[in-house]
Amino acid sequence: MDDNDPKVKRKIRKLTMRIDRNLCIGAATCVAIAPKAWALDDEAKAIILDSSEEENDDALIEAAKGCPVLAIFITDENGKQLYP
Ligand code: SF4
Repeated sequence: MDDNDPKVKRKIRKLTMRIDRNLCIGAATCVAIAPKAWALDDEAKAIILDSSEEENDDALIEAAKGCPVLAIFITDENGKQLYP
């Protein structure tokens, strides 16, 4: 899975979310905070769900902040990194 896969990198309104699956340890904090945006796949690594637009921007950012290994990257519409 590379960054062209919407399970790995996806634009949601003005935010772009990206998961570094090499960093992800499957802690599932992201899933707990934003269950419509994140799930674990059969490798126990996070993927971005098609329903991610149903989570508001705050939930998307809080999920990234909750990740214990900072595997979720969020940038704004200008490419500025908001987190981590
Ligand atoms: S919180 Fe971080 S480590 Fe845990 S599943 Fe989500 S991306 Fe992976």
